[in-house]
Amino acid sequence: MSEAIEEALSYDDVLMLPGYADFLPAEADVRTRLVADIRLNIPVISSAMDTVTEEEMAIAIALEGGAGVIHRNLSPESQAEQVASVKRFLNWIIDTPVTVQEDQTLNDVVDLMKRYRVSGLLVLNGQKKLCGIITSRDMKFCSDFSLKVKDLMTPNPIVEDGEPELEKALKKFHKHKVEKLPVVDSQGFVKGLITVKDIEKHRNFPLAALDGNSRLIVGAAVSPNDYSQRLPLLTESKVDFVVLDTAHGDSGSVARAIADIKKKFSVPVVGGNVATREGAKRLIEAGADAVKVGVGPGSICTTRIVAGIGVPQFSAVLWCAEEAAKRDVPLIADGGIKYSGDIVKAMGAGASAVMIGNLFAGLKEAPGREIIYEGRIFKQYRGMGSIAAIKQGSGDRYQMAKGEDPVPEGVEGRVPYKGSLKPFLYQLVTGLRKGMGYCGCRTIAELRNYRKFVRISAAGLRESHAHDVAITQEPPNYSR
Ligand code: 5GP
Repeated sequence: MSEAIEEALSYDDVLMLPGYADFLPAEADVRTRLVADIRLNIPVISSAMDTVTEEEMAIAIALEGGAGVIHRNLSPESQAEQVASVKRFLNWIIDTPVTVQEDQTLNDVVDLMKRYRVSGLLVLNGQKKLCGIITSRDMKFCSDFSLKVKDLMTPNPIVEDGEPELEKALKKFHKHKVEKLPVVDSQGFVKGLITVKDIEKHRNFPLAALDGNSRLIVGAAVSPNDYSQRLPLLTESKVDFVVLDTAHGDSGSVARAIADIKKKFSVPVVGGNVATREGAKRLIEAGADAVKVGVGPGSICTTRIVAGIGVPQFSAVLWCAEEAAKRDVPLIADGGIKYSGDIVKAMGAGASAVMIGNLFAGLKEAPGREIIYEGRIFKQYRGMGSIAAIKQGSGDRYQMAKGEDPVPEGVEGRVPYKGSLKPFLYQLVTGLRKGMGYCGCRTIAELRNYRKFVRISAAGLRESHAHDVAITQEPPNYSR
């Protein structure tokens, strides 16, 4: 019987074997396929947790090439609004620019600008054709907001009336010293808007993860209980993918939800979470476009202690990846990433991307509140199975019925404040590149097929960490 008990390992139990390389880590290609045909420029996504991913985090991580998954402890309306706001953040051509009628008042303009967080509106005449443009700059010194838009707008703005092209647009911006270029058809009806701000953002963030219309990629979490309310709103907001966000993905309700979403909506679905070969197989058979793996590795998670189940994450990823590879389905390793080296191990075990909660919760862009404790700044980080999160609605992730007394599977805590995402992510991704360099793997596909590990002892782990020294200056990518 004892021989039948399979052994499972966590990231700390293994190391990747170094191998011959003939390139620099900076040359390693970290692009990956996340789900279906959605590709990211870095293989990192942020957790669907209410102290990790709302619109600010989703925008910041997508600008750097990854993606965020907006959590679902929000009403379907506000979750969809957050998705819409990520999709609006960056454009090539804004296909539905905000407009105002020439007879409306400046008060209306101010309201619209506030509501849609824009600094300029296209003005339409009685026939709904473009007749002007009004920006916040035009109203800077205005004292009478009951004036009509037509009294203050710039009439007959410079427009793009042919097929929009970047070079052509840049020339017009330069020549006419304007910052907004409405796109109109031959009769003067508005077809879109090109802005200098969008072009600058594309230049400043060359690695941004973009959809086919040059908008940022974003995902959203749904559950078997709420997907039918959330999906219509999320697809309306142009969500790129949804994640069936459950603690026990190897269940009938998740499989049925995946099948139903695939039937009714054309949006890629990530199924999860599972930790066994059979679980991964069932999700794939149900139609999942990617499989998310992790039962109990999360830093705030107590499932393994409360329920006595789970699989150490390295083995869970390795096993599920074998199953997913048979059908060319990508795998996301969710939870338990403590250092950049764990990302290398997760991808080495076969993952196409990792999902991160803890390491991101302390960042400026995370929605958790700041906590000052003994003179230092922290940010709140809590499990979606913690009492506070369950009370806010996430109990069904842990198969709890509404109103049931909470039996938590997660804790509430704090993590050190880490500043903004960009420099932190740079450390993580460069760590991954270094791992690829040491293994001689130029691409994520090569790393996923490398499969050369050694198992280490407790002494090996002790030797791996900084030891026998008092650290006087913590580096940005390592602390214990
Ligand atoms: P971390 O990056 O903190 O190690 O792990 C984050 C992951 O833990 C999340 O993406 C999610 O899958 C999982 N998770 C979040 N909250 C809870 C919880 O309360 N209990 C459990 N079991 N897992 C959680």
